[in-house]
Amino acid sequence: MAENRRRHTRQLEVIWEAIKEGTSHPTADQIYEKVRSVIPNISLGTVYRNLQKLVGEGKLQVLTLDRTQHFDPTLERHEHFICEKCGQVYDVFVDAKEMILSSSLSHEGFTVSSHRLALYGFCKHCGK
Ligand SMILES: [Zn+2]
Ligand SMILES: [Zn+2]
Repeated sequence: MAENRRRHTRQLEVIWEAIKEGTSHPTADQIYEKVRSVIPNISLGTVYRNLQKLVGEGKLQVLTLDRTQHFDPTLERHEHFICEKCGQVYDVFVDAKEMILSSSLSHEGFTVSSHRLALYGFCKHCGK
């Protein structure tokens, strides 16, 4: 039993190590590939469960793009820029909430409680 718990803690630690410092917004599959080099017999389901746990603990944000979940350890408020050519997801620190709140929406009777914004274009490596 204690052995089991140690194993679970280790899995969670390795998964957290794999994602905590990146800004690449990996999917569960990409994290699974990375974690497998450390724990070869881990399953995708285990990786997925641990990711949900980290999200539940408030350590990760989930970003859903084209129905795929991407995991993001940056909790500071930010938006995302997706390169249409290379597919890379970048963090952009613009205050969209401020932009939305200062727009004419409230005068038109809309109360904004949250927003979901994704910016698309070409990154500096792919841009013209
Ligand atoms: Zn690009
Ligand atoms: Zn991000």
